[in-house]
Amino acid sequence: MMRTHYCGSVTEALNEQTITVCGWVHRRRDHGGVIFLDMRDRDGLLQVVIDPDTPEAFATADSARSEYVLKITGRVRNRYAGTENKNMTSGNVELLAKEIEIIAKSETPPFPLNDDFTNVSEELRLKYRFLDIRRPEMLDRLRFRSKVTTLIRNYLDENGFLDVETPILTRATPEGARDYLVPSRVSNGEFYALPQSPQLFKQLLMVGGIDRYYQIAKCFRDEDLRADRQPEFTQIDIETSFLDDNDIMDLMEGMTVKLFDELMGIKFDKFERMPYSVAMRDYASDKPDLRIPLKLVDVADLMQDVEFKVFAGPAKDPKGRIVALRVPNAGSLPRSQIDEYTKFVGIYGAKGLAYIKVNELEKGIEGLQSPIVKFIEPIVLELLQRVGAENGDIVFFGADKAKIVNDAMGALRVKIGHDLNLLTKEWAPLWVVDFPMFEETDDGKWTSVHHPFTKPKGTVDEMKNSPETALSIAYDMVLNGTEIGGGSLRINTLEMQKAVFEALGISEEEAEEKFSFLLNALKYGAPPHGGLAFGLDRLIMLMTGASSIRDVIAFPKTKTAECPLTEAPAEVDSKQLRELGIRVREKEKKVE
Ligand code: ASP
Repeated sequence: MMRTHYCGSVTEALNEQTITVCGWVHRRRDHGGVIFLDMRDRDGLLQVVIDPDTPEAFATADSARSEYVLKITGRVRNRYAGTENKNMTSGNVELLAKEIEIIAKSETPPFPLNDDFTNVSEELRLKYRFLDIRRPEMLDRLRFRSKVTTLIRNYLDENGFLDVETPILTRATPEGARDYLVPSRVSNGEFYALPQSPQLFKQLLMVGGIDRYYQIAKCFRDEDLRADRQPEFTQIDIETSFLDDNDIMDLMEGMTVKLFDELMGIKFDKFERMPYSVAMRDYASDKPDLRIPLKLVDVADLMQDVEFKVFAGPAKDPKGRIVALRVPNAGSLPRSQIDEYTKFVGIYGAKGLAYIKVNELEKGIEGLQSPIVKFIEPIVLELLQRVGAENGDIVFFGADKAKIVNDAMGALRVKIGHDLNLLTKEWAPLWVVDFPMFEETDDGKWTSVHHPFTKPKGTVDEMKNSPETALSIAYDMVLNGTEIGGGSLRINTLEMQKAVFEALGISEEEAEEKFSFLLNALKYGAPPHGGLAFGLDRLIMLMTGASSIRDVIAFPKTKTAECPLTEAPAEVDSKQLRELGIRVREKEKKVE
């Protein structure tokens, strides 16, 4: 072995010992005849002192530059009183160098990796990711990620799960996104799809008797990367047999509790299990952020006959919704802030943001300040009573199609919660359960809220007769307003699977064409089964406090799904295309 110790692990315990470290030059300082090198490796930093008594080492140190790789042998000694550095594990000691060897030189890095690192563009960091990863912040995140997956593997192993791999070259699995396709050379004109999830394979593993499966699985979804998404991402993918939904939630909650406790010292209480209908009613979101104590209140019934069309319209529309959001003690919000919130809800399609400032309730209408009070006078006091308004509060209103109201007011609730520092706790995990089975698309068809293999509550006939009210046995784990995992019990009878396909408008031929292997498997003794998947990247992002999932992935893609490091995606040569039977259409000429 080249070294005896990691730089970051050298402490007083090694005082007076001769050791050898290898690492990168983090910083070099010349102090009038003495050279200091801060050496860095995976474990941290170590201060090395080179004095002129060792002329050879001194000359080498003198020629060393940032990011050179050095091997240094020397004697550990305690630092002089007053020169200790509490921020470093090795801060009480230093290494007095005897021999220094340059193992590899480095050009000047395109951005500094030491404390001078500021304002470096992400594009540049990704192009030089191999350097970016040397930074302690990035290293720590990747190390943490490895700890998480190790703990998860151990937990699942202790609970009888088997780690089974499933194919990457496969057929499409509908999870609601576009597929990445891979052309076949052997069968020109045919394509594999990269898995959006191992969903069907894990179900087949249950039919195969594996009983408890997990996989740390790469999944691929070709979505527009507006939000913080990646075209390929990692799931902790889980499937079990002969357990009900509560058993599965208990097992997975146990894993999450252990993860936060052992890696972060955070103790969670038992997770609340909140029906989807309650989450939508109170928080206008299927992933409510329960750190924020604000709740929405439905008020459409009061607005049926008001003069104000903005309210009366949605009040009468069966697809409309009107909610009030009371923010205690925020009556002094300045106009400019209200304008900003109005713009904010506009992003979600809301046409405005009505509000009432409650100055003095005792004075009745006179005590209210609002552009809308005069239009809703007959009901305004009842309205304020319903939302529990008190002097000094502001009440916001959302009135529109339910979807717009939910998107806009759900987001506004969270934004105000953060802006006004209303968070009552640091971590708020919960399960959201009892999701609807289907949702209506704009063209009046039904699609799955989860995926088409999700088991509905109730019988085949109940599901067929009223798809609009059918619930599924699905559950999402939500943490601080982010969905970190989700799954369901699955259909395990041919009859139900066919009925659900039918409800989704998937014809028998299409079902047979795409999913014959699943339908076939359901004929041969399919056990009751269910599972879920956790989004590993997002979980790690939340745990480390990183601001983007890209910061917890070693080699992520940019928002335009490109890799600045390898410059993928890239053109391929014509021979390769010919073999695949593919001719690329001429790129459309850009209109100048
Ligand atoms: N396959 C689902 C997903 O990727 C998770 C599950 O149902 O287990 O979202």
